[in-house]
Amino acid sequence: MKIIVCIKQVPGTNEVKMDPETNTIIRENVPAIINPFDTYAIEEAVRIKEKYGAEVFGISMGIPAAAEMMREAVSLKIDKAVLLTDRKFAGSDTLATSYALSKGVEKIGGYDLIICGKQATDGDTAQVGPSLAKTLGIAYATNISKIIEIKKDAMRCMKITDDGYEEIEIKLPALITVVKEINMPRLPSIKSIKKAKKAEIEIVTFGDIDADEERTGLKGSPTQVRKTFVPVHEVNSVEIKGSPGEKAEKLAEILLSIEV
Ligand SMILES: Cc1cc2nc3c(=O)[nH]c(=O)nc-3n(C[C@H](O)[C@H](O)[C@H](O)COP(=O)(O)OP(=O)(O)OC[C@H]3O[C@@H](n4cnc5c(N)ncnc54)[C@H](O)[C@@H]3O)c2cc1C
Repeated sequence: MKIIVCIKQVPGTNEVKMDPETNTIIRENVPAIINPFDTYAIEEAVRIKEKYGAEVFGISMGIPAAAEMMREAVSLKIDKAVLLTDRKFAGSDTLATSYALSKGVEKIGGYDLIICGKQATDGDTAQVGPSLAKTLGIAYATNISKIIEIKKDAMRCMKITDDGYEEIEIKLPALITVVKEINMPRLPSIKSIKKAKKAEIEIVTFGDIDADEERTGLKGSPTQVRKTFVPVHEVNSVEIKGSPGEKAEKLAEILLSIEV
């Protein structure tokens, strides 16, 4: 079977800076890491490979420097790494990102399963997985916490819902997004780090995929970020002292004084 893991590079810092002109994240010269949720996606793909036999591809859309991150993914035992990178992809919102990724996925071709992280720790929308599945026209399931069984043309999984867990069966090819309960990602061995240093990262540019320019980058992004800011948190706290009766009386007084 062929598995494709979507891997996003995210800032490895809380001090994210925004470009005031374009309202996009400044990614150059910022320490970058594999999106933490994607490490669970990589691990799950590698576990499937070890159990059932599979070829695991990693795909990312990002800046050229993301090639280093893809090397780290190779050290975590993916077999092949593909990086979509081109100025024409810059400024993509989630729709344009999913479209570009779908073209990269189609270029890899012949896949049975696509695994994404639950969400990215910077954009946080959790939209790319479902949107990618929709663009490719395949089934998808989000928040998968366990893969129970993979059969020839379907797989059984456990999905986390608001009320608990749900066992589902999904027809292949499919896309799933995974939560951190699914596994404990392994650490790379020294041997695999060394091997990854020499690994070839396939660079795919706009010209290499059969993509519509109107659907990529800023041009293909219906979402416009008008303003970005850090919210101001104002917390007014009051400490109520006294016996339980006095505290209750004071609390009732405060609550009754609040204008609604
Ligand atoms: C108007 C606008 C302009 C933007 N401009 C830029 C920009 O110039 N540069 C920029 O970097 N971002 C930009 N963004 C942010 C960009 O849209 C998101 O980073 C991206 O679409 C992914 O969304 P997300 O971070 O919410 O991922 P989520 O949907 O939360 O990610 C879920 C999963 O999808 C997969 N995934 C998501 N993104 C990628 C990816 N790129 N490659 C591989 N797998 C992925 C991963 O498996 C991830 O765990 C812009 C957003 C908007 C709205």
